[in-house]
Amino acid sequence: EATAPLLEVNGIEVIYNHVILVLKGVSLTVPEGGIVALLGGNGAGKTTTLRAVSNLLAGERGEVSKGQIRLRGERIERLSPSALVQRGVVQVMEGRHCFAHLSIEENLLAGAYTRSDRGEVAANLEKVYRYFPRLKTRRTSQAAYTSGGEQQMCAIGRALMASPRLVLLDEPSMGLAPQIVEEVFSIVKDLNDKEGVTFLLAEQNTGMALRFADYGYILENGRVVMDGTAASLAGNQDVKEFYLGMG
Ligand code: ATP
Repeated sequence: EATAPLLEVNGIEVIYNHVILVLKGVSLTVPEGGIVALLGGNGAGKTTTLRAVSNLLAGERGEVSKGQIRLRGERIERLSPSALVQRGVVQVMEGRHCFAHLSIEENLLAGAYTRSDRGEVAANLEKVYRYFPRLKTRRTSQAAYTSGGEQQMCAIGRALMASPRLVLLDEPSMGLAPQIVEEVFSIVKDLNDKEGVTFLLAEQNTGMALRFADYGYILENGRVVMDGTAASLAGNQDVKEFYLGMG
């Protein structure tokens, strides 16, 4: 359908190990070209929501037991992670997960594994280096010896090598100094503005996420308890008190 949003999650429930109900009916919409933030504390269900979309639950003994997930109107719950990559959906996992023994450039090239056109891959690599000049400087360095910020950039850069339309970004700020978080978020915003890449990002850093996102959903205990434009959430008294520490 021409009018279908890029991503639509409708009433999903997720269980782990056949019994533990972790998502209890989560619905959300990500419009094409948006930056949408999934907010909430530890264990609220943010990572699980992203894994449900990218179909990475199976490795965690989890499954979507109810609800639907649609990409431009097409049901995707049964598509494999690689089929999703082919359709432009790529996840950047929490904790960065660069291949420690490979160089930054080898890590980036690993992200292009589904693509065969060498010229396109080379052009894409140059594009990633334009957005992440730090990665170009560090291209021959073994990932293990780069900083946390560089590893996060490498993980995002690797995802971009698949030419995604939708990037699922899990806790990009984790373990990074505020200045580096700012740098990473600015690049995300730039990629969104200039390349039209859509982002669904999970963040515990509510303040930072609301500065860069258009729209946000707050999860508590596996349910969406509030949603709204980033500006309206940032101005909401409960959000200020419970998530921004401005009570
Ligand atoms: P965090 O920021 O800590 O990752 P989160 O909001 O992303 O928090 P989830 O990681 O989605 O939350 O976890 C939601 C709930 O699911 C938690 O209670 C967690 O203990 C549980 N959970 C997560 N992964 C598994 C798993 N593989 N098996 C069983 N339970 C899990």
